[in-house]
Amino acid sequence: MFVDSKEYSTDVRDILHSSGKAQSALHEQAGRLRDAHFGKKIFIRGVVEASNYCRQNCNYCGMRRDNKDLNRYRLSLETLLDLVLHHRPSSITDINIQAGEDPIVVREVVIPLVKEIKRQTSLGISVCLGTLSNREYIELRQAGAEYYILKIESGDEAHYRHIQAPGTLARRVEAIKHLATTGWKVSSGLIIGLPDQTEDHILRTLELLSHLPLAGWSVSPFIAGDQTPFGSHQNGNLEQTLNSLVAMRLMHPDRIIPAVSAMGIVGQNGYTRAIRAGANLATINLTPPEMRENYLLYKRDRLIMNEQRVLKSIEEAGCQPSRTSLAQYLAETQLTTKVA
Ligand code: SAH
Repeated sequence: MFVDSKEYSTDVRDILHSSGKAQSALHEQAGRLRDAHFGKKIFIRGVVEASNYCRQNCNYCGMRRDNKDLNRYRLSLETLLDLVLHHRPSSITDINIQAGEDPIVVREVVIPLVKEIKRQTSLGISVCLGTLSNREYIELRQAGAEYYILKIESGDEAHYRHIQAPGTLARRVEAIKHLATTGWKVSSGLIIGLPDQTEDHILRTLELLSHLPLAGWSVSPFIAGDQTPFGSHQNGNLEQTLNSLVAMRLMHPDRIIPAVSAMGIVGQNGYTRAIRAGANLATINLTPPEMRENYLLYKRDRLIMNEQRVLKSIEEAGCQPSRTSLAQYLAETQLTTKVA
């Protein structure tokens, strides 16, 4: 697979392997491409983790339904609304509502929450709630959510089954296409360093994601999760993760790419380096501390990105917070990728 543009033609495999001076040059080039399309402006969203109930059983995720050692919670509408309305840092322009795959919290809490946030603020709304029914997608969209995050994690069918990601890869991809044709801006993504993942899997995944109708895409290193079947495996590698991010920026200069806190777990300065290398979205965690420890994506001591850390990283990377919300930006921008 090649990245072809007016300025360069680069083999994605070479980008994934890059190190030393060649790597620095590629990372700088990706940063400049971000600047050319977005300026040095980084979107800042706040995330709330509304529920850790989950009907899926992903081998990499601590919220999997077979994890019986987890205290399950659903936050109430009042708690979440209070957090968003009265306890959000001023730098936040968008809210991302995330949860395990839990249709009950979607119906009872998330949909009314989205409506209230829209009624009372000008915040943009992203949701990351898993694969739901078409009716739930419609209701969320009508409530006012704009951006749906649905990661494929691995774009190789056999590997997707092996990690027990939700449903099948084909259905996850169908859901992404469905969302994109029903008024949503969509983001997807992959995890780097999952057990038994090969470089060909990564390349195939990037290729697949590259042809989907996405406004954004993400890459996170795998973090071996407590209380999961993959708990004894190694974490993903920071260099490979950042190199993937660079390949993604070069492939689609106009897509949103987040810096993710897991990058800061697997290596020094991972978060800041991601922003330098072309990421343009950062996330501040708003979940109350007493609930946070049970929102177990991987480890109880995960790195919590508060406002201070996020702003410091943005500054260290030579960038500034965006005052335009992600939702507003996306509403004004046409997608260039056609449905494959
Ligand atoms: N249930 C929803 C979203 C919540 S999980 C869904 O399935 O879409 C949010 C994301 O956390 C997942 O998409 C996955 O990419 C990430 N995640 C879970 N466990 C992880 C791990 N061990 N390492 C890295 N990322 C992980």
